[in-house]
Amino acid sequence: MEVPFYEYIVVGCGGIGSAVVYWLSRRAGKSAHLLFAYKHKTYVLFIYPPHVRRTQVYQTDASHFPCVSQISMWAEAEKESGIQLVYKSGSLDFTHKGTAGEDLFRRYCKAMDDGDIPYDLMDAKELQERFPQFSGPGVSGLVALLQKDGGLVDAASSNAVHVQLARGRGATVMDNTAVLKIDTMDDGTAMVHTSRGRFRCRRVVVTAGAWSNNVLGSLGVHIPLVVSQEQVTYYNTTNMKDFTKDKFPAWIYHGDPHDIYGMAIHGNTCSKIGIDCGGFPVTPDTRTFIPDPRREEQCKKFIWMHYCIGPMQYLGPINYTKTCLYTMTYDRSFVIDSLKSKGKPQVVFCIGAGHAYKFAALFGRILSELAIDGRTDLPIEPFTMDRPAITDPSFRPIYQNKLSTIPQAASKARL
Ligand SMILES: Cc1cc2nc3c(=O)[nH]c(=O)nc-3n(C[C@H](O)[C@H](O)[C@H](O)COP(=O)(O)OP(=O)(O)OC[C@H]3O[C@@H](n4cnc5c(N)ncnc54)[C@H](O)[C@@H]3O)c2cc1C
Repeated sequence: MEVPFYEYIVVGCGGIGSAVVYWLSRRAGKSAHLLFAYKHKTYVLFIYPPHVRRTQVYQTDASHFPCVSQISMWAEAEKESGIQLVYKSGSLDFTHKGTAGEDLFRRYCKAMDDGDIPYDLMDAKELQERFPQFSGPGVSGLVALLQKDGGLVDAASSNAVHVQLARGRGATVMDNTAVLKIDTMDDGTAMVHTSRGRFRCRRVVVTAGAWSNNVLGSLGVHIPLVVSQEQVTYYNTTNMKDFTKDKFPAWIYHGDPHDIYGMAIHGNTCSKIGIDCGGFPVTPDTRTFIPDPRREEQCKKFIWMHYCIGPMQYLGPINYTKTCLYTMTYDRSFVIDSLKSKGKPQVVFCIGAGHAYKFAALFGRILSELAIDGRTDLPIEPFTMDRPAITDPSFRPIYQNKLSTIPQAASKARL
């Protein structure tokens, strides 16, 4: 039987895969072909800082700045669909004076000054004047940095909008289809073996998140990654009106040993709180969907004992806790590349490194250009595979908040 041929196949339909298929469909129409294995992701909201934050990479490495300046790529799908995807609730970083978090702030401020990115620096009093929701005893000694243009991307809507627009242009989307392996062929095409048969294509884009090495492994490539099981908790509060997006920013506290983040109420969700890199290493097969009560307690204490308490009650009973996976490179920076240097230019791939949602629309465009044109004008040099975190076996992980254990398999795995 003849194997169906498509110009492009995209493996994975998370935030990045759905954006790739959208951008492919703008230029390639029906020849974009999307495959995805499991269910659609259901993350609801993501912090959307139009700058830099949350990881050591951001503070020390200006390489993310060009991405930041292109983050408005979301506007393309918003314009086309007429559906709002980005909400500028503002984003607030805060920390305690005299801590490592304050050093981080200095570096942020310098980076933003250099990049001409506006922000407001506030002490505790100014913070409380601006956001009276911060009313707990722990507020004293805080320093805070507000970016008015920061906010949220509605991830569920964004994925759906990208996919729908692509489908509207004729892209084929195959649900519940697992990619089992990829072979590169002598004629320069790729053969994609799936749970629903084989497909041949000119270019294949792999955006398989935590499963990336399962897919890339069949091509003899292994990216050193740590996958961790993270969680976010949603709390009910009767005081919803003080925590809506027009009154309350997306926020992140830079602490030791972890950063803690949260955001305003959006849509039918409650207020959301999570610990950045607070989880433990897993694989997609060993992960559980069971919330860790210690982390729920830690978040609750953080909010209740220190910040948003009193008349402006932020916390109510837990509505639910959702687990999910971070897929992190050892430098916690992205990988956006093709396997051209391995003699397999048919294959393009991306690893989001646990903080890529805000850039999904941009990365979708970049990956579509790599697939169609074999190149992009957008600045991806810092994100190629050719860097120590991927190639140097002695590279030590530099997450801002280290996970307690790096699994043996991951530490040995090198390209
Ligand atoms: C708790 C949490 C909070 C986060 N907060 C933020 C934030 O505030 N800001 C931010 O920018 N980012 C944040 N992120 C990170 C962000 O979610 C990811 O970087 C981004 O979603 C990665 O997108 P992706 O498309 O690469 O992977 P995913 O969204 O994981 O998608 C991969 C897809 O590939 C599919 N797949 C896997 N294997 C196969 C196969 N063999 N065949 C076919 N399909 C396959 C999967 O089913 C999945 O649908 C957060 C992540 C978590 C877990």
